[in-house]
Amino acid sequence: MTRYGVVGPGAVGTTIAYELAQASKDVQLLGRSDKRMEYDPGNSQSCTTLGVTDIKKAETSFDVLFIAVKAHQLNAVMHDLERLIGENSIVILAQNGYRDLNRLPIKHVYQAVVYISGQKDGNTVTHYRDEILHLQRDARTQQLKQELDDSGLHIELENNIESTIWYKLLVNLGINSVTALGNDTARVLKVDGMRELVRHLINDGLRVAQAEGIQFETTLIDDIMNIYDGYPDEMGTSMYYDIKDRKTLEVDYIQGYIYEKAREHKLETPYLDTIYTLLLAHQV
Ligand code: NAP
Repeated sequence: MTRYGVVGPGAVGTTIAYELAQASKDVQLLGRSDKRMEYDPGNSQSCTTLGVTDIKKAETSFDVLFIAVKAHQLNAVMHDLERLIGENSIVILAQNGYRDLNRLPIKHVYQAVVYISGQKDGNTVTHYRDEILHLQRDARTQQLKQELDDSGLHIELENNIESTIWYKLLVNLGINSVTALGNDTARVLKVDGMRELVRHLINDGLRVAQAEGIQFETTLIDDIMNIYDGYPDEMGTSMYYDIKDRKTLEVDYIQGYIYEKAREHKLETPYLDTIYTLLLAHQV
């Protein structure tokens, strides 16, 4: 039986572990300490409790390890990885943003594009919607998808994951930046001029993506604005909550990553530069 591990008992990790456990998979949820997480699956299903094992105590080598910590928390997990994976293990980074996977000392590592919406508050996770991970298609991920077909965790395979990663980066660039800096939920889009600002910001990001060789439909900005229009006013983003809770932001892996790429391509990106600099001022 495939042994699944999930590092990071937060909104994303607990949802993954819950869905695997519901399908009777062999799964262990690992965190910074032994504890129990209350999990509200949403859709009027009853709440449940999931056990969390201190990652330092885990000795098992997992066949598939999902890592669902915030992007800046990955370095701390790397110290524990040696004990948790073997030669043939698959490691799936279930986190937002972009990083160069070639720099990680992991043989079979995949960047997932995460469509799971939820929030952690203390030891309680509330799941709002979706349980989808997009992954690059290859023999390993095809087998994984097959194994998880009977679970509520949906794997979508992509022929070019780079485009999917960039699409999510641009979606996050717009809404995460203005909810965080505007100090409000998706309601912030109703402020006069905010939609224009968001469109300019995404356009800066789009030009960087294009310079990186990523092709999008000409309707991309309208498409992203349509996605935002579907958000309830009270919906926050992770960067909004992180800034509110004075937590470290994932800015280096979203806005910062696009900013660095813009410099490499010698592009002028005034909206991105302004937003990125203001976000850096909030970094703790
Ligand atoms: P989260 O709720 O803050 O969960 C992160 C979890 O990782 C926390 O439980 C944290 O432990 C744990 N952790 C941190 N360092 C660790 C370590 N060294 N060893 C073990 N566990 C560790 O974050 P999230 O919202 O699930 O987000 C995870 C990633 O998914 C982020 O990149 C986020 O941007 C992305 N994402 C989130 C959503 C969403 O709706 N939440 C949607 C799409 C993508 P503590 O509890 O001790 O802090």
